[in-house]
Amino acid sequence: MINKEIELLKKANDAAIQNIQENGGPFGAVAVDESGSKQVVGCNRVTDQLDPTAHAEVQAIRNHEQKYGVGSLQNGEIFTSCYPCPMCNALMEEKGISRSTYSSNKKDADNAGFADDFLYVQQALLEEDQEPSVPVSLLPDDLHATLNPDHFYLLDEAHHIIASCESDRLFTAIPKLTKQINTFETPNCFLVSSKELKILDYMASCWMGIEKIYVLQKEHLKIKKNTHKVEHVYVNVENEGGPFQLWGNHSDRTEYGLKPNV
Ligand SMILES: [Zn+2]
Repeated sequence: MINKEIELLKKANDAAIQNIQENGGPFGAVAVDESGSKQVVGCNRVTDQLDPTAHAEVQAIRNHEQKYGVGSLQNGEIFTSCYPCPMCNALMEEKGISRSTYSSNKKDADNAGFADDFLYVQQALLEEDQEPSVPVSLLPDDLHATLNPDHFYLLDEAHHIIASCESDRLFTAIPKLTKQINTFETPNCFLVSSKELKILDYMASCWMGIEKIYVLQKEHLKIKKNTHKVEHVYVNVENEGGPFQLWGNHSDRTEYGLKPNV
């Protein structure tokens, strides 16, 4: 690990710490383009933006593309304070990002109360071409007749519409839907997607805790896999002699139950 990379990891960790002070989750990331010159920070803003997709890595990628254009991270890298969850990993795959370098690992996140085991189970099932736990089904005919086929919907337990929007895909529709109902978690609810589902769309749905995803077309029942893979590199800064502490080491972060990961 070269000094420049240590610095970028430090930047991600510092962003995580700063984010806690701004009432965000303890996660930060830096998205860097292939040349290494265009660096953009993102932090977890799930709770304040009521957006279950607003993880640090997603935010860093969104901010980077907003500044430098869509596709700006092809062959780029992510430096993140914690190992990326399957949703963030799926977005990195789609963006053609080659590598993620992380400080804290999955166990640290689990210990801190940020378990994402459910998503890893789904990831494994999808990789093995098995049915995931949150089913994807065809929209029942009676509902089909009442819904606009171009829209995305969130339905309650009784299949009543509680939010709806237009979007290019489910991943970008989700924050629009959750903001309408003022919560980023929607257990016992159902999503209706008018577009094909990729792993990113599915994992974002899992973060909402939903019951089922309905699709309108038979060919959308199968979740599309990504072909590109991201390399993940764990940097044990203690060994690298990095001049910084991980977010988990900060004693004033105890309210999050964070423990030193050394
Ligand atoms: Zn994530």
